[in-house]
Amino acid sequence: MKALHISAECYPAAKAGGLGDVVGALPKYLSKAGMPAGAAIPKYRLNWIQEHGFHTIYKGAVRLHNYYVPFTIQQESSNALGFPLFVVDIPGKFDRPGIYAAPGGYGYEDEVERYLCFQQAVLQWIVNSPGRPQLLHCHDHHTGLIPFMVKHCPDYQALRQIPTVFTIHNGLYQGAFSWSKLYLMPFFEAGARGLLDWNDAINPMATAIKCAWRVSTVSPGYLRELQQQSNGLEMLLQHEQHKCQGILNGIDTQVWDPAGDPFLSARLNGKLEAFKQANKQVLARHFRLDAQLPWITFIGRLVNEKGAALLPGLISRALQNGLQACFAVLGAGDPGIEDALRQLGYHFPGRFDAALEYNEGLAHQLYAGSDFIFMPSRIEPCGLNQMYAMRYGAVPIVRAVGGLADTVPDIGEPNDAGRGIRFTHFTLDDAYLALYRAVQLYNNPRVLAGLRRRIAGLNFSWEKAAAQYMEIYNQMI
Ligand code: ADP
Repeated sequence: MKALHISAECYPAAKAGGLGDVVGALPKYLSKAGMPAGAAIPKYRLNWIQEHGFHTIYKGAVRLHNYYVPFTIQQESSNALGFPLFVVDIPGKFDRPGIYAAPGGYGYEDEVERYLCFQQAVLQWIVNSPGRPQLLHCHDHHTGLIPFMVKHCPDYQALRQIPTVFTIHNGLYQGAFSWSKLYLMPFFEAGARGLLDWNDAINPMATAIKCAWRVSTVSPGYLRELQQQSNGLEMLLQHEQHKCQGILNGIDTQVWDPAGDPFLSARLNGKLEAFKQANKQVLARHFRLDAQLPWITFIGRLVNEKGAALLPGLISRALQNGLQACFAVLGAGDPGIEDALRQLGYHFPGRFDAALEYNEGLAHQLYAGSDFIFMPSRIEPCGLNQMYAMRYGAVPIVRAVGGLADTVPDIGEPNDAGRGIRFTHFTLDDAYLALYRAVQLYNNPRVLAGLRRRIAGLNFSWEKAAAQYMEIYNQMI
């Protein structure tokens, strides 16, 4: 193993969003391209992890203030992911039924302690294992202190020469915590204290940007946006520009394969229109919606950054105005938005329905059966939904932001360059116009069929992104 990815998520073992998809795919495609890679995540009490066998390869304990927390590193025994998957079992810290929050939606309060244990456990294991990786690739703030620890903590000084890469999947969550928790940190060189600080707090994301050898964001557009607006990190990202790069995520075309996807009721057999229709019919049993009308679907976390707050007002306006479309929502998150969507279901039976949950299989079925996937995001670091949608022949309707702007040109573009419908401003008017254009497109079956064929044939595979990461790795190793 040359590169070890360290992350809070890795599909299918543990996924809450795009981070899981990326870490579940990138090591596989790197390994295929000749750069053997593995991944390490915490051992949660989640179904996939409980259903698979693991064997212990290392036992240790990390110091947290004045006590020691025991842990074991375990490797998945069947190599189910096609690359080595390691889980860090830390009793009392991660053996819970959620990744970031309990099933009721309440976040875990001991985030700082948990991630400090996880990061140190991984480093201690690497220090003591004979076949060390040549490079550490850390993802998001949960692993953001690793580049600092490797450089400045005496316990891990044996790793000082190992290059570190840090990828920002979501700059909104920085993991910042008060200096009053400094006592939880491992010992470090006193002179390095300033590297931990950003805006008077210990900020793991800022620390990673300062200390990692290279920093990447999950799309070029998102890097530019972060340099202009990133909750206080703007100056830092501008200053560290020389080591930053935006690399557009790919999608795992083995997992997201309309011809072989085990979650689908009807698989693609050459005929895209028939594939869409058959899956829509099956969906119409789950979501009580009219299968004759175009289906416009939202899949995602019901949070502000995804533009979910726009949904209730926009959908009721569209349906009150008589827009001939149905709306489906699959998502969980903000209780206020969930309530508003529940209400909407009572007002518009047959035209609006929502599944307020996380359901991987249903998401696949919705990409296959929906006509349009709607993404009115305020912020979108990369966005994977639009790429899954296109591969499954669903036309994306997106706000032109971050990775959405990088991947979805509007159908108004000349020379058939368009892939979906774009709008610019985060307003009801702009979003409504986009929905209106979608219905017009649906009513033009010849144009729609041509567009579907074109977007379903696009190549969003990881090969290109993996090659870009390998180039960075090779420069450092
Ligand atoms: P995020 O910011 O949430 O990481 P991405 O677009 O990068 O957004 O990735 C979202 C991933 O999570 C996609 O694979 C999407 O299908 C999945 N997803 C989000 N919400 C749900 C849900 N409620 N049920 C199933 N899958 C979901």
